[in-house]
Amino acid sequence: MSFEKLNLHPLILKAIVDSGYTSPTPIQEQAIPELLDGHDVMASAQTGTGKTAAFMLPALHGLATPAKVQSRGPRVLVLTPTRELALQVSEAAAKYGKHLPRVKVVSILGGMPYPLQNKLLSQPVDILVATPGRLIDHIQRGRIDFSRLEMMVLDEADRMLDMGFIDDVERIASATPATRQTLLFSATLDSAIDNVAARLLKSPRRIQIAAQQAKLDNIEQRLHYVDDISHKNRLLDHLLRDLALKQAIVFTATKRDADTLADNLSAQGHEAAALHGDMNQRDRTRTLTKLRGGGLRVLVATDVAARGIDVAGITHVINFDLPKFAEDYVHRIGRTGRAGASGIAVSFASGKDGINLKKIERFTGQRIASHEVPGLEPRFKPRPGTSGPSRSAPSVAHKRTRTWSNDGPRHANSANSSNGNWGDSGGRSVGASRGDTWGSNTRGNARGNSGGNTRSSSFGNSGASSPYIRTK
Ligand code: AMP
Repeated sequence: MSFEKLNLHPLILKAIVDSGYTSPTPIQEQAIPELLDGHDVMASAQTGTGKTAAFMLPALHGLATPAKVQSRGPRVLVLTPTRELALQVSEAAAKYGKHLPRVKVVSILGGMPYPLQNKLLSQPVDILVATPGRLIDHIQRGRIDFSRLEMMVLDEADRMLDMGFIDDVERIASATPATRQTLLFSATLDSAIDNVAARLLKSPRRIQIAAQQAKLDNIEQRLHYVDDISHKNRLLDHLLRDLALKQAIVFTATKRDADTLADNLSAQGHEAAALHGDMNQRDRTRTLTKLRGGGLRVLVATDVAARGIDVAGITHVINFDLPKFAEDYVHRIGRTGRAGASGIAVSFASGKDGINLKKIERFTGQRIASHEVPGLEPRFKPRPGTSGPSRSAPSVAHKRTRTWSNDGPRHANSANSSNGNWGDSGGRSVGASRGDTWGSNTRGNARGNSGGNTRSSSFGNSGASSPYIRTK
């Protein structure tokens, strides 16, 4: 299949050629014809599969014909769970729309000053990329005219659900014309997502990409058993001294750990910095810009902060702490192996991680081979055979429920238990639910200035000339 066969506007095809893409990815091949035919689409596709172009190319194609309704409001609305993802979607719009005349992309994200956003929204907008909370504010203040909205995209809908944004998303949808085309992208299409789709989409075409296996193919997964924190630190130092490691993201369980570890690594002489939701937006943007420009070798991050980071130079992802949720493992390791490159994902697992590890392996359907570094072998050896995946189908064992507390949305994974042993849970939930509070970094400010001829009313320094390949 070639891009030419998709019947996209010639100026979009030109931008695709500029991007160096030779053929559509499976999600693009399946979704683009349905979207160009005007169908609603719900697709299971994770980051790394080319999902952003799968919706952005048809969205831009639609913009090449004049709007049917006269207004200055957005014709395309993309809702994303995080600021980083919103930024990357805005940049993708600029990249693929750079040859089209006058495509105005505006990002509306929490944390950004209202007067500036008001100004942006008072001008004509073609594509509006937003996180739900701040957009609701503007809708309530009557600042957004959705009368000519043609397409609404829910990007990473599962994550918006997990973060407690789905009520906002539904309120936003109710402010848009019923005639709109609606697209929903989610890592998995489970019953919770089906419920959302039933309310917001009309007879959607359902596209399921076997992404988990396929997209991890270019990532070598390794496991290191660790005895304690000092063993972890020594192993990490060893891994970071590998010259084949160009850039790495090291994941920690908490924001505080990310800060501490980044400080320790800097003290050891590594070019390291932290990225998490407690940092202000200016610091986050500065850190990400440095990472993209190659001025930072090691980023120590938490899950939410690192979501959507698309930097081609990342050769390694290191799970200093294993993620609580198996799907986060896939998101984490997907930060490497971008744009067709290969990558290495290293996970540290201690005595209490046995069940977590099994869940990850079940979810991905892949066994993670264990490695040892001479001189840094673990004293702790797990029960033989426990690191292999069971035969149960990937991803079926994870089921989400949401609970609320005073400090914001939480999500709990009813299948996510950890009783600190390496027994075989056989895919059953064996413990109580655990909640996970999501950081405040979902409400904030990220502004990208997209290059090319596309006018993008956002700011920051992540233009099309950036030395990293990204689109999302
Ligand atoms: P996404 O899944 O949207 O995060 O995209 C992941 C990466 O794939 C981005 O770096 C894109 O630039 C790249 N990409 C998207 N479509 C294609 C394609 N058809 N061929 C090669 N790379 C692509």
